[in-house]
Order: sequence, then C-alpha cells, then structure tokens
Amino acid sequence: MNLFNGTAATAARQNAPVTCRPHCAACCIAPSISSPIPGMPGGKPAGVRCIQLDNHSRCRLFGQPERPPVCVSLRPGPDLCGSDTQDALAILTRLETATRPQARTHG
Ligand code: SF4
Ligand code: SF4
Repeated sequence: MNLFNGTAATAARQNAPVTCRPHCAACCIAPSISSPIPGMPGGKPAGVRCIQLDNHSRCRLFGQPERPPVCVSLRPGPDLCGSDTQDALAILTRLETATRPQARTHG
C-alpha cells in the first residue's frame, strides 16, 4: 500500500488524534494493501472490502500478530477520516489515486 506511507497520512498522524469511528472501516476498503493478509495472500486491491472485516466492520485480526503492520501503524486523524464514513471513503480514494506509482511519475 502506498497510502499509509504518504504525505497526507503523515500529516494526519501529526494532527490531534481522534478515535476511530465505530463501523466506519473506510481505511479497510478504499486503500490497497500490498502486504499479505490472512485470506488475501496477495494483499488487498483498492476499493475491495478486506476479508478480515467482520459483520460489524471490525477487524478480526485486531491485537493479533497476523494483522499487517501497515494496519497497526495507521492512526486516525481528521485529514484521513473526514467527518463521516462517506467522507473518509472519498478522502482515502483520492489519496490512493494520488499515491499510485504511475500517478507519482507524472506528478
Ligand atoms: S477511516 Fe478513520 S474512522 Fe474510518 S475506520 Fe479508518 S481510522 Fe477509523
Ligand atoms: S487486516 Fe484488519 S485493519 Fe487491516 S485492512 Fe483488514 S480489516 Fe482492516
């Protein structure tokens, strides 16, 4: 995944921390994740719901060593999470597109 290492995500981490919004899961859907996830050995494409999300949109791997480091390192922040889930999905989709390798080579 490019998103969680990107400038915007860094900026988000530097903002005052906010609590992860219950049942949001936008950052488990919109971004791609390049590292293996149990059940998704090739990682997760952008816009695809992670297989480890349960029916309440919570991570089944929370607190477990199998949870990808990129997920562990993510910190909620206003620049990332927006005002609601739809807002977060839009922000994260924009960031995902902006941090694609081909986008960077032209930017
Ligand atoms: S986008 Fe923010 S609020 Fe939504 S699941 Fe991710 S960290 Fe939580
Ligand atoms: S492993 Fe957990 S935190 Fe990471 S994308 Fe999947 S559901 Fe979300």
